[in-house]
Amino acid sequence: MEFKNLSLKQLIGEIKSGNTTQQEVYDYFLARIKTLDPALEAFNLVHQTAPKQDVHTPLVGVPIGVKDVFSEAGIETTASSKMLEGYKPPYDATVISLLKEAGFSSIGKLNMDEFAMGGSGENSAVRITKNPWDTTRIPGGSSSGSAAAVAAGMVPAALGTDTGGSIRQPASMCGIVGFKPTYGRNSRKGVIAMSSSLDTPGTFTKTVEDAALLYEIMSGYDPGDSTSLQESTIINPEIWDRKDLNGVKIWVPKEYFIDGIEKGVLREIDGAINTLRELGAEIVEVSLPHTEYGLAVYYITCPAEVSTNMARYDGIRFGHTHGGGADISTSRSEGFGKEVQRRIMLGSFVLSSGFYDAYYRQAALVRELIRDDFRKAFEQVDILVTPVSPSVAWKIGDKSADPLKMYLADIFTVNGSLAGLPGLSLPIGYALPEDGGSVELPVWLQIMGPALGEEKIFEIAHVLERALQKSVERKKPNIF
Ligand code: GLN
Repeated sequence: MEFKNLSLKQLIGEIKSGNTTQQEVYDYFLARIKTLDPALEAFNLVHQTAPKQDVHTPLVGVPIGVKDVFSEAGIETTASSKMLEGYKPPYDATVISLLKEAGFSSIGKLNMDEFAMGGSGENSAVRITKNPWDTTRIPGGSSSGSAAAVAAGMVPAALGTDTGGSIRQPASMCGIVGFKPTYGRNSRKGVIAMSSSLDTPGTFTKTVEDAALLYEIMSGYDPGDSTSLQESTIINPEIWDRKDLNGVKIWVPKEYFIDGIEKGVLREIDGAINTLRELGAEIVEVSLPHTEYGLAVYYITCPAEVSTNMARYDGIRFGHTHGGGADISTSRSEGFGKEVQRRIMLGSFVLSSGFYDAYYRQAALVRELIRDDFRKAFEQVDILVTPVSPSVAWKIGDKSADPLKMYLADIFTVNGSLAGLPGLSLPIGYALPEDGGSVELPVWLQIMGPALGEEKIFEIAHVLERALQKSVERKKPNIF
């Protein structure tokens, strides 16, 4: 049987109805990984045998890929860093335990930018993952392997983390559904930390319904995470029956439509906004006055937290050791790649006593203003839609020598992260890249909701997804 086109929900249905078995499904995806991964390099590690799962569990043993940042007991977990080469965590991350209870099979560890710092996958110390649509291009990052693996049909779904866009952006570049819940909905316990006030585990799937399925399993209060939220995470199943968007107020913030967005991207986004209108939604234009400060606030806050989180890797208690551990600075300069070192330096600088008030404190205050902009706006509208990135997937090597260029590509995702809001990226069409290239690449829409607004996002995204399936021809990467 052919499984690459099936959603998670469909695969579960096939196993439950006895049309196929857990083993057959696992072996199928294993074989696809063997065929495709030499060209795509999405996996850091592949499990050759399927764990046996109870057939009465919700996930009935379907294989799912895991970003190499989630601790799995006894399984090498490196965050794609030399620093953690050979490290086997002693326990499972909470979200992994929840998925195991629900009967998932982890099929392997997926490549990423080192410690999740980056937007292209090129900062991985292990390998560079390629975009399945065009293997000369980046798959996005930091969850580069997760996005490429799902888009190439090597797994039906994968886990990722999103700190400033690392799920929404690579999902977009690879033309699949990426979902980041509200900060605090999915536990961070056991997820290797990058920037603790922003890190949010989430998923890569083929459909919006699959994103909701995994969200319901993974989310919920965890006493092991001090920022975990207590509110209920149940999604009302009736949302999937909705066919129109009558009465829904959607907001298209003008601050997100800046110069420099590729024309093809704008054309597809305009098309999707028109579809939303035809479905009955009322499009409202409001304003988010502090949008322009988002990138600066993010690139102060994130490195500050990185510099403290990375302090634990001293080659003594954790991580790569040089010469028996006495020489901490050599252990660290050998173990960390350039981007990690850059952020440690930036972070230490903005936290240092002479500069703390001017940078870190100021950033923390402006972060509140950004959060407040969103809070006010969501008093008037249900959701907002924006681009995810100014361009479609760029060529490998295009931005990697210039960190500022790379940071600028995060312009549409970091503000939602700073405010802790849920966001989903939905593929909506295709466009030719403006930097040359003859392969049309996926274009997407970011759908953001208020804090705890997951259900609303799923509901609206699903109606749009269905409408677009009728009007836009669904393409697949050639490699598929
Ligand atoms: N590209 C952003 C960064 O480099 C986001 C990374 C992420 O979300 N992990 O920080």
